[in-house]
Amino acid sequence: MVQRNRFRGGRRPPRTPGRAGTTLVEQPAAEDAVAPVIGSAGTVELPTSLSVRQLADAVKVQPVQVIKQLMRAGMMAAINDVVDFETAAKVAAAFGVQAKPQETAQSAAIERGTGEADDPAHLITRPPVLTVLGHVDHGKTTLLDAIRKTNVAGGEAGGITQHIGAYQVEYNGHKLTFLDTPGHAAFTAMRARGAQATDIAVLVVAANDGFMPQTIEAMNHAKAAKVPIVVAINKVDREDADLERVKRQMAEHGLVPEDWGGDTVTVPVSARQGIGIDTLLENLLVVAEVQDLKANPDRRARAVVIEAQLDKSKGPVAHVLVQTGTLNVGDNVVTGSAWGRIKAMINDQGRRVRQAGPSTPVEVLGLGRLPEVGDILVAVADEKTAKAMAVDTKVQIGQQLFSLEEMANKARAGEIKELPIVLKCDVQGSVEAVTGALAGVSAPSVQLRLIHAAAGTITESDILLASASKGIVVGFTTRVEPGAQRLAEQQGVEIRLYNIIYTLLEELEKALKGLVEPTTRETVDGRAVVKQVFTSGKRNKVAGCAVQEGRLRRGGTVRLLRGGKPLFQGAINSLRHFKEEAREITAGMECGLALEGFNEYEEGDVLVAFSVVRV
Ligand code: GDP
Repeated sequence: MVQRNRFRGGRRPPRTPGRAGTTLVEQPAAEDAVAPVIGSAGTVELPTSLSVRQLADAVKVQPVQVIKQLMRAGMMAAINDVVDFETAAKVAAAFGVQAKPQETAQSAAIERGTGEADDPAHLITRPPVLTVLGHVDHGKTTLLDAIRKTNVAGGEAGGITQHIGAYQVEYNGHKLTFLDTPGHAAFTAMRARGAQATDIAVLVVAANDGFMPQTIEAMNHAKAAKVPIVVAINKVDREDADLERVKRQMAEHGLVPEDWGGDTVTVPVSARQGIGIDTLLENLLVVAEVQDLKANPDRRARAVVIEAQLDKSKGPVAHVLVQTGTLNVGDNVVTGSAWGRIKAMINDQGRRVRQAGPSTPVEVLGLGRLPEVGDILVAVADEKTAKAMAVDTKVQIGQQLFSLEEMANKARAGEIKELPIVLKCDVQGSVEAVTGALAGVSAPSVQLRLIHAAAGTITESDILLASASKGIVVGFTTRVEPGAQRLAEQQGVEIRLYNIIYTLLEELEKALKGLVEPTTRETVDGRAVVKQVFTSGKRNKVAGCAVQEGRLRRGGTVRLLRGGKPLFQGAINSLRHFKEEAREITAGMECGLALEGFNEYEEGDVLVAFSVVRV
């Protein structure tokens, strides 16, 4: 049986022991393989090995299409043969589907960067990564500057510090890495993209001001990320500093200070006068030690993009934070849709380095295009793998990953234990009324989890928080800011707006019980067929189409069908009639179009333009 399921030919590169192979695997039989978990369109979770048939099912194509794709990669496989994850991911990518390793205890450990999946003998303690959060003007930037001045790791006098999105300091022989883009928006934006970069949050509260709305928001972002919070009570040099009031407010918000018998490490500081900085660093190291942060430096690197910019002379520049493994100059890397070979790396002191280990921030040169903040960068075996893995990982517009309906389905299927919501109301009084009423909403097996509740309009930060927590945003007699609406569409987060508290409660309770009816319906606006594929620029392609019915609109969402099966869904980002950019093209006309995040058009592909309407 093993024989039947074995890889049987093709160009099989030798497998390196200890590293995930890039070929078909030999041992597991299809029957033994774990079934893939099909997520929302566009991504799929796959086990470490699976049969060709399972893979075809997972990416929603015919098995023969998978077999053809494998042949193109030089592998001959039959329907019951088993492929490994890396191979499956490449095949999935060819069909516009992003594959993620199915979450196991091991992969979860890698995700967290604790490296539990590695042989413990290879693990070393890594520096903690810290983010400074807090209300505007409470002193985040001043604190980061003060810390940086204490001792930039290994920096001799005169070393030029460079802004690369993070820096390392050394205290008592231990390193600490600070992300120096303070603020919870960046923090949660990364998390929303699946990149938990931070180990400890430092919540800055000005001693004179006390808790402010953004202090609470930042605190809830940190709590949602399940990272320990250390409170730095800043501006203690001020005459109007009131430490006791801050501690009282902390306790009211569930952060009971240590000297009040709680477990929240609290350090009074003056960032401006450099008071208490040493104590803060000392305490941060203690908290880090408790967390026992480990990583394996002897493996291919995985890093998170913390900043990215296009430099006139250097080209795309990515500032990354290595999470596990060691990144080397010369490594082939892939991050989101960008890939390349690392030409040079520059550390936080502006020095060129050849290697960067766990928790080290470096500037990386050599990527073909600009990645996005929060993208994960991984080092891979070779250029071919990098190229094959470079797929657009963006969530497609119009696709709701986190909607009440989706939650209800999951609740019914027993897949979720809680329904995370971010609640925004017009005024504080409503926040209290709704929060109080929500406490009475329950279902036997699923709980509501209020991640954040505040007065105000729905902002981008709310969307990111919901997305990072796999939840939805609920608005009560409030409105959505335009930027937030766009972001919600991009992130696939549903915003539910209510004016009647009773309806709000009823719908959430129904969702918990798995009872929500669809509230949206698709209507088809037009249909076109791809007649020819052109190349535009270096890498991009344009589909020459004939519109057969209705109309296609620039910015509108289309579904691309191949062989009658949906392959991709996304927005039209360029629409031309001859050379002219057009707003819409109607039936009977021809056009050239490009879809955002897709490049693999083939003649005969059918494009269906549709819109989603609420019912
Ligand atoms: P951020 O918006 O949180 O980054 O706050 P900043 O670091 O920009 O600080 C806001 C203002 O507070 C600036 O005018 C700082 O000089 C001042 N500030 C920061 N830390 C202290 C401090 O420890 N004591 C006093 N008195 N002022 C401070």
